[in-house]
Amino acid sequence: MHELSLSESIIALVTDCAGLEGVRHVSRVTVDIGEASAVDPQALQFCFPLLSKGTVAEGAELVINRIPLKVRCADCRAEYRPDSPIAPCPACGSHARAVLEGRELRVVSFDGA
Ligand SMILES: [Zn+2]
Repeated sequence: MHELSLSESIIALVTDCAGLEGVRHVSRVTVDIGEASAVDPQALQFCFPLLSKGTVAEGAELVINRIPLKVRCADCRAEYRPDSPIAPCPACGSHARAVLEGRELRVVSFDGA
């Protein structure tokens, strides 16, 4: 499961940073997850507490910011947020585009003491 290894990565990163900052208990971890990142937030919420057991992040709240998909049309350069993953450009009907936002997968911050 993708979310399992993602949870491991998040916890590893937080554990490393907490160690550097002398944080002994992390109470909250905030992550950005793009809608086009193919990560299921519910699965992530499920995996995170299981994998954080015995780490500095045990019992921490996981806050997930969903970043909507935003693209730029390759033909007319219009920027838009598609209603569905296969929606064409509303200005010219083209399907050619570049993703600007929505593939985020990152730890934004964590709180602890
Ligand atoms: Zn267009």
